[in-house]
Amino acid sequence: MANTNDPLRDLIRSTLDFYGRFGWQPLTNDAIRVFEEEVREVTEAAQDGNDKNHIAEEAADVIVTLIGVCQASGVEPEQLIQQLYAVIAKNDAKNHDTHVYTDGKIRRRFPKSTP
Ligand SMILES: [Mg+2]
Repeated sequence: MANTNDPLRDLIRSTLDFYGRFGWQPLTNDAIRVFEEEVREVTEAAQDGNDKNHIAEEAADVIVTLIGVCQASGVEPEQLIQQLYAVIAKNDAKNHDTHVYTDGKIRRRFPKSTP
């Protein structure tokens, strides 16, 4: 299928087409097991830190297998895409007035107000 010029949609479509070509049966626990294997691989590659291409390759595997977890869990591709774009919008809206970097994490500067 032709690309859409939307990398997120193209990646999800390509991944699901790939799984479909192999008759992948979306079982959540299998998808999670494969995802966790890939998380372990990227973690090891990042901790080693020497081979940047290997880290990137393993990171891509994590993303692809996470799409599999979503598929197996019944998340519609468009639902995932919408959430990804929501994260982009939220990240773009964060600034030093709203968030602070501390203890290795970017955190909300002020706790959410409760109604
Ligand atoms: Mg891998």
